[in-house]
Order: sequence, then C-alpha cells, then structure tokens
Amino acid sequence: MTSTTGTTGTPPSSGLAPEIAARLKRSADGLLPAIAQQYDTGEVLMLGWMDDEALHRTLTTGRCTYWSRSRQEYWVKGDTSGHFQWVKSVALDCDADTVLVKVDQVGAACHTGDRTCFDADVLRRDGAGSGVPSSDQ
Ligand SMILES: [Zn+2]
Repeated sequence: MTSTTGTTGTPPSSGLAPEIAARLKRSADGLLPAIAQQYDTGEVLMLGWMDDEALHRTLTTGRCTYWSRSRQEYWVKGDTSGHFQWVKSVALDCDADTVLVKVDQVGAACHTGDRTCFDADVLRRDGAGSGVPSSDQ
C-alpha cells in the first residue's frame, strides 16, 4: 500500500482509508457510536463505540471490533464470550456520526446473556393488548 498524505487534519495512526476517515464526525473523544443490528431479523442488538482503528478492523476482519471506554482498549465481540458478531454490512448514517453494523450475531449480544441489550428494561410498550390503538399497523 502506498501512502499518500494528501489530506491535512486526518487523525493519525489508523489503517482506516483516508477518504472514509475524512468524512467521519467524531465525538469529542474521537469516537462514533456503533449500532449492531441482526442482519436478517432487524433486531437492534447493542451499541458500542468505535474509533477509526476499530472501524478499520471491523471493515477488514469481518468481526465487530469496538473501543472500550472503560478499559481504554480494543475488544473484539466474542473473543471472551464466543458470541461473535460476523459483519454483513457497515454503513454510515446521513451525518456520518453514527455507524450501523449489520451482523450475524452468535448467541447473546448482551453480556448479561440477553439476546439484545434492550430486552430487559422496556420503558414503554404500546399495543400489547391494552387497547391502545396503533395507527401505523
Ligand atoms: Zn448489553
């Protein structure tokens, strides 16, 4: 790979393609929220954080790689749990400040053992036989 440094102001030392890196709108700590979604069912599985290198590894290894804000290190989903996320597609949202990773999730996405991180704490649920009309469906 030949390195051409045509752009100024791009973050250093990640393998991420410069044309992608230049478009990212990162948070103050240099991270993007990354939503993992089951590619075939549409389940929203979890949310993690990626910096440029984590995004690069996710794109190139085919396994979701996140940056742990608490441990300050990269982690590959499944390395300790076996609950891998095999990457099917990666997309930026319209503002280039959020990553959507469609994956094939092995086992539970949440470290608690739940299928998704959003199973256990539902704040509101409409249309569960309560007579609340759901106009859209
Ligand atoms: Zn969780």
